[in-house]
Amino acid sequence: MAEQTGNAPGAQRFIPPDADTIDALRTAAGGCRGCELYRDASQTVFGRGDESARVVLVGEQPGDMEDQKGLPFVGPAGRLLRRAVDDAGLDPRHLYLTNAVKHFRFELRGKRRIHQTPDQVHITACRPWLVAEFARLRPEIVVVLGATAAKALLGPSFRVTRQRGELLPWPASAQHPEDFQRVPVDNASERADAPQARLLATIHPSAVLRADDQDKAYEGLVADLTVVTRALPE
Ligand code: SF4
Repeated sequence: MAEQTGNAPGAQRFIPPDADTIDALRTAAGGCRGCELYRDASQTVFGRGDESARVVLVGEQPGDMEDQKGLPFVGPAGRLLRRAVDDAGLDPRHLYLTNAVKHFRFELRGKRRIHQTPDQVHITACRPWLVAEFARLRPEIVVVLGATAAKALLGPSFRVTRQRGELLPWPASAQHPEDFQRVPVDNASERADAPQARLLATIHPSAVLRADDQDKAYEGLVADLTVVTRALPE
């Protein structure tokens, strides 16, 4: 079981400055020791999808199955998300899936590994990987799935329930607008050409699985994702 610590060195030092592809980042993330979560998890679960993806979906953290397989969104919530993406008419070739925290946090109960929500310290420690993914991918829209991803990008005061389904400008609370720039931040002319990313928050697919009225929760998720489909220019 992962012990809880009040601070963590963070992932930044594990990101090679010359890692200019998602594959290079993924390889480097395999050795991350930016917080204590690596100790008990099986492996780092990095994002997956096409490097030219237009939409990045950000979840919370890998679950038990993702931890075992080393891939994000392959468990029950991932299956539901793929169905919702399909029903929303989003082209899966446009998507890149990742998590705010790249290691599985859990509590052992007997032999069962029970999901534990990451703390702010883990979200903050792991954020450099997310930033690095954005910088390589330069997505048009980032979809924040649930409260943990919202905390990583919008700050702790953002409430998904209040502003879900709204296409928002890249928020100042994400602090680093240059995150989406592939070019050096002092190169103003090239920066001007970089796409303006927007952000949409919705619920995590696992919240649909936990909902009393799953059909209604699922419809809400699909409706939010449909906003993304409509916002993507042909
Ligand atoms: S959770 Fe993130 S910061 Fe912590 S060890 Fe894993 S990859 Fe590094």
